[in-house]
Amino acid sequence: MIELPETTVLADQIRKNLIGKQITNVQANTHPHKFAWYTGDPGNYPAMLTGKKITGSAAGAGSGCGYSTMILCEDTLLELGTPIRYYPKGSRLPAKHQLLLTFDDDSFISCTVKMWGALFCIPATAFPDDKKPSPLTDAFDERYFEQLCSASPKNLSLKALLATEQRIPGLGNGVLQDILWNAALHPKRSLLSLNDKEQLRLYQSIKETLKAMAEQGGRDTEKDLFGKAGGYPTVCSNTALSRPCPRCGGKLIRQSYLGGAIYFCPVCQPEPYKK
Ligand SMILES: [Zn+2]
Repeated sequence: MIELPETTVLADQIRKNLIGKQITNVQANTHPHKFAWYTGDPGNYPAMLTGKKITGSAAGAGSGCGYSTMILCEDTLLELGTPIRYYPKGSRLPAKHQLLLTFDDDSFISCTVKMWGALFCIPATAFPDDKKPSPLTDAFDERYFEQLCSASPKNLSLKALLATEQRIPGLGNGVLQDILWNAALHPKRSLLSLNDKEQLRLYQSIKETLKAMAEQGGRDTEKDLFGKAGGYPTVCSNTALSRPCPRCGGKLIRQSYLGGAIYFCPVCQPEPYKK
């Protein structure tokens, strides 16, 4: 699933390549997907978007689903929680898509849902004012993270703290794994069990890991606007599972935990002490 580093990359590429292009054709819900979410009737999307120009793009937390790429089309906002692909004029259409926008130069972008994803289209004025700072900004500082931790239940595991309830916009179960590996903390460790040094390490890893992922074009498990895999080599992911732990050379482990997989190194990220 795309998360903050990837939506940051997508928004940047959209700003550099698509601003000024005028939308001439819109197809929404051509290939219905059980977990593709629209605002209202996707049949209204053509009337809301046709004739408008792309005027901006940003990574954002969105209206509650998180991990969205926002595309501003004059007075209308697309909030896309799916991969987005750009195709030059004459390219073949993807086999399946849940949103397709064609531009005045006959190039187009498509959105195809992987597991689930929001494809919202709303008046730009209806966009909720999100007060939670992105971890890629200076507003997400040590003090802010400290407050976030003290406001959270102490028995939460680190996976639950970081990747549930949208406490941190765009931080989900994907980027979580490398953040915890870099911090040398097991995903099942509880917030309560962290000493000051470990909590600081966690904060630093959130900042540094996400920054590195965004700067390197996203994770190697995800693709950018042009279909190119990101340059950030994940350590703890399905893709990287067969590689040894870069720190100790040991074998990485995959487990099911809290409705999804966790990946960790049992040596570098020791399991919490069990009574
Ligand atoms: Zn290791």
